[in-house]
Amino acid sequence: MSLKIEEIKIDGYERVVYAQVPEVGLSAIVAIHNTNLGPACGGIRLLPYASKEEALRDVLRLSKGMSYKSALAGVCFGGGKSVIIQDPSKKDPALFQAFGEFVASFGGKYIAAKDMNTTSEDLLEVKKKTHHVLGIDGMEKSSGDPSPVTARGVYRALEATVEFLNGSRSLSGVRVAIQGLGHVGYSLAERVKEGGGEIWVTDVEARRVEKAVAELGAHPVSKDGIYDVECDIFAPCAIGAILNAGTVERLRCRAVVGAANNQLATPEDGLRLHERGIVYAPDYAVNSGGIINVYQEFEGYDSAKALDKADHIYDTVAEILRRAKDQGIAPFIVADQLAEERLYGVH
Ligand code: NAD
Repeated sequence: MSLKIEEIKIDGYERVVYAQVPEVGLSAIVAIHNTNLGPACGGIRLLPYASKEEALRDVLRLSKGMSYKSALAGVCFGGGKSVIIQDPSKKDPALFQAFGEFVASFGGKYIAAKDMNTTSEDLLEVKKKTHHVLGIDGMEKSSGDPSPVTARGVYRALEATVEFLNGSRSLSGVRVAIQGLGHVGYSLAERVKEGGGEIWVTDVEARRVEKAVAELGAHPVSKDGIYDVECDIFAPCAIGAILNAGTVERLRCRAVVGAANNQLATPEDGLRLHERGIVYAPDYAVNSGGIINVYQEFEGYDSAKALDKADHIYDTVAEILRRAKDQGIAPFIVADQLAEERLYGVH
């Protein structure tokens, strides 16, 4: 197998490499945004991108996002990501073994994990060629499903935001509208209920809503109606880009705190929330339990330690909201500033 490598120079990025292995149809890019804090860790995204340029745009955006997320989470990982240009129905073991050789060529500067359309089985093929792989389910000392740690972190972020709003972190009487009752959303609903809060819920799967109504006394809401619920906290735990020109004006909450990635459709939506006086706890600070969990595997996995570290998300979110208030600017801007201080302030 012959790995054909092309270095791509991009300002602000340490290393971006395009690789091809024609025999197995591999066409992939690894982007290492920054390794000031540690090796660049990020998942392998497999998509049928329309062009190499489209794949490059995605991997640049995602790898930079990983630098910022790890910096805010306080883990010693840099930011990296990889993309494989491929139809998911056509992936096979040889493709991932060839990709493993590509990962090996970075000598540990890039550590691969799962992302969209890649599974633990795929990672096992990558691992045949390199040790620099994390998050394979079922392996000894694997970090496994990150959801419990993510859910713990989202709950701590919720407490920090409630403290910011009410001067007390108590959830007693706090009204929370949860969009998406999957691994993270349902666990959040349980914790809010335990804490004495009142819950409104929606999901595209009716059985999940019915369960929350029966077990937690939640108020069911339609998929679209969740944006109109009068509440203290709107918690997006389903999909991205739900804070957009069509929804921000409808929200009747005091704050937004949730697990979903890329909640703001555009930065303007973050400014819109700010102008409306709605406190937005930045998503990548709130949901960093996932990277905290994987980092524990890098250090020697211990689930109790991972959960303890996710508790620090409380302090990070509290600091972001406090600074945003002091400076009179939107919290999502402060989150970026804080991440940059940690990223570029280290030597
Ligand atoms: P999940 O797939 O277990 O749950 C998502 C839930 O949202 C499902 O019940 C689904 O039916 C529902 N849903 C989908 N579209 C919806 C819509 N339009 N309206 C209402 N409900 C909808 O996912 P998860 O692991 O709970 O993660 C939730 C979100 O948090 C995702 O966006 C994920 O990318 C993000 N996230 C998760 C983790 C983690 O560790 N699980 C880490 C970081 C970020």
